[in-house]
Amino acid sequence: MKVSFKYQHKKAQCKACKADIEVGQRAAWYYDHKEGGPYIRNGYHLECWIQKVFQWFDEHPFEHKTRGIRGKRFSPEVARERRNLTERYHRLMRKKRELIEVGDFNNVDVVELKREQVKRGMEELGGVPRSW
Ligand SMILES: [Zn+2]
Repeated sequence: MKVSFKYQHKKAQCKACKADIEVGQRAAWYYDHKEGGPYIRNGYHLECWIQKVFQWFDEHPFEHKTRGIRGKRFSPEVARERRNLTERYHRLMRKKRELIEVGDFNNVDVVELKREQVKRGMEELGGVPRSW
């Protein structure tokens, strides 16, 4: 498995959001080839890749293994709902960045309110990830 970062020189589709990675945009390329398996080569907008990274950490909370304390274990239903909230959270953060870019600050406030709701939902489901 290998990840490389570069400016896109040829239009390609982002594996995460399905939109085009335009020439000149920042991109992350993920390569993998397992024994006997297919050769995988996926491109992502740098932002989409970073969201995936944050999501991975949110879904894998820190467990201090040397102290023998297990991290929180969630039932499949709760884990699924937490995953939904995590996805919603990252969609909102992306929306917020887009709104800030175009200077639409009224709607930034609306997004912030929604984000607080998502955080409250997460709190009720066992705790808010530290990166939120
Ligand atoms: Zn993307």
